[in-house]
Amino acid sequence: MSKGTINVSVDNIFPLIKKFLYSDHEIFLRELISNATDATLKMKHLANIGEAEGVEYGNPMIEVKLDKKKKELRIIDQGIGMTKDEVEKYINEIAFSGAEEFIEKYKDKNGKDAGIIGHFGLGFYSAFMVAEKVEIITKSYKDEPAVHWICDGSPEFTLEEAKKKERGTEIILHIADDSTEFLEESRIRELLVKYNKFMPIPIKFGTRTETLPKPEGAKDEDKAPTQEVDNIINNPNPAWTKQPTELEDKDYNSFYRELYPMQFEEPLFHIHLNVDYPFNLTGILYFPKMTNDMSIQKDKIQLYQNQVFVTDNVEGIVPEFLTMLRGVIDSPDIPLNVSRSYLQADGAVKKISSYITRKVADKLKSLFNNDREGFEKKWNDIKIVIEYGMLTEDKFFEKAQDFALYPTVDNTFYTFSELKEKIKDIQTDKDGNIVILYASNKEEQHSYIEAAKEKGYEVLLLDSPIVTHLLQKVEGSEEKISFVRVDSDHVENLIKKDDAQISKLSDEEKESLKTFLDGVIPKEKFSVQLEALDSNANPFIITEPEFMRRMKDMQKTGGGMFGMGGFPEMYNLIVNTNHELVSEILNTKTEKKKERLVNQALDLARLSKNLLKGEELTAFIKRSYEMIK
Ligand code: ADP
Repeated sequence: MSKGTINVSVDNIFPLIKKFLYSDHEIFLRELISNATDATLKMKHLANIGEAEGVEYGNPMIEVKLDKKKKELRIIDQGIGMTKDEVEKYINEIAFSGAEEFIEKYKDKNGKDAGIIGHFGLGFYSAFMVAEKVEIITKSYKDEPAVHWICDGSPEFTLEEAKKKERGTEIILHIADDSTEFLEESRIRELLVKYNKFMPIPIKFGTRTETLPKPEGAKDEDKAPTQEVDNIINNPNPAWTKQPTELEDKDYNSFYRELYPMQFEEPLFHIHLNVDYPFNLTGILYFPKMTNDMSIQKDKIQLYQNQVFVTDNVEGIVPEFLTMLRGVIDSPDIPLNVSRSYLQADGAVKKISSYITRKVADKLKSLFNNDREGFEKKWNDIKIVIEYGMLTEDKFFEKAQDFALYPTVDNTFYTFSELKEKIKDIQTDKDGNIVILYASNKEEQHSYIEAAKEKGYEVLLLDSPIVTHLLQKVEGSEEKISFVRVDSDHVENLIKKDDAQISKLSDEEKESLKTFLDGVIPKEKFSVQLEALDSNANPFIITEPEFMRRMKDMQKTGGGMFGMGGFPEMYNLIVNTNHELVSEILNTKTEKKKERLVNQALDLARLSKNLLKGEELTAFIKRSYEMIK
């Protein structure tokens, strides 16, 4: 037996390892299984290139074994193993220097708090985060005796020959008293599923009972035979590692269920990512059905490195609007032991992010081109991602011109250029601007929508929470285009043409009407405007100027030009001087009756804009009954 001291400058590195990785103790298992996987794949490689004569590669697996009584957790592989010299070199020198380097690097920062992602490449020594003593029993594929290494967390270790005959490495962790959670089967299972679900070598954790088919001639009451089989916790060949040509839609859908077992809805479509130059990246992204609430849908994309789970926070790697998607990304080229701000500035990561954006745009375009009807059907479930992408990524905005849809209130879907072509003749105003009308709520804006349709105008239905921001952007990118919500003015004024209406009222009559109205209608809520509209148009119409409303909307969803809180509830009241009722108001003799007519007409206008509520609604109903008595 030989004894030795690991050559480090720090007296006792292990308390430091514990401290620095405090919140991330669980990653030790991922690190050890990664080592076991590497060792197995190395063996496979050597066997393939004929470097390991007389060695049978076979069907190796990795086994994780728990012995709660002895407080032991073992990780056993059938990989290349290590000779005595190799243990000296790789475990005592190299692995240790790796650990020391890590600590040097992060000594001044506060581990996770400094924004370091939970992947450090600390490797083998992360075992000491949870174990008070670690043993390695390993037999190299080379014709040399097995060795047994023991270390209790101080820089001293022992190394002696061992009897192990089979090739491979067994790591024995004597779990420390403060880490007994890792002696629970359920906890280990949870970790294996979290980090190792798609690793390339089968991982066995215990056994399970499998029911076999009943033998022929068995009676109904006979029990089906069972057998104990290895419980393999991973799928070593997940869909993203295959070529798109090998997979059909049903394979993509079943992989989706494998990723999200609790998700019962099928994804709408998928995008297979596959590049090897200038960086290496594979993966599959899925478009799920989206709701309009953006925040709850994040953190569903899983990031892997060579089939090892790293994180489900892909912020910085995937453009923000795509964090609403689901799926996996696997890339060995994403630097992980760096802070997020560094990540966002990293050239390679930027390339990855723009590659993903491009692939998503290309996929959407091909779906649109190949099956427009199907694409239109899905539009409402995916628009939030596309609209958010258009708003935040200029490249995506450009590409989206080909497939972004503008649906009307009657469910006709136009692209932007189709829409312009369709409306340019009747919806161009006197200054040559094309005015695009839209509604945000079919029910609430019903009367305004009808009035616009009556005039032959197209009315879009744009109801995403971010739509106001997007409209600003579209207006900024196009010449002579403006969006106007249908209820922002009377229909005659939405698209201003030259043909002015003649007023039935004389100037004196108008003057007297205005004076009366100003006395009855609350000034702080409505600004009264007399207008000579079509005699069939409503007598009183409440509108909210487009500009004011947009500012309010944008303030609600963040952004906007003003930081000030709360815009006043101020509306325009348009009084149609050509309507019979207005003449009647003017000609009514008793003040009281006149006032009642004005209030009734005002309430009706409020009602059609969904503004009449509470006490005022009650008063309105009471007054209405009195009037029909
Ligand atoms: P890394 O895996 O990043 O190189 P580690 O500290 O995890 O760092 O391991 C150091 C070295 O020890 C590895 O490079 C490998 O040569 C050797 N090693 C670790 N675990 C095993 C194993 N299960 N079988 C064979 N060799 C191993």
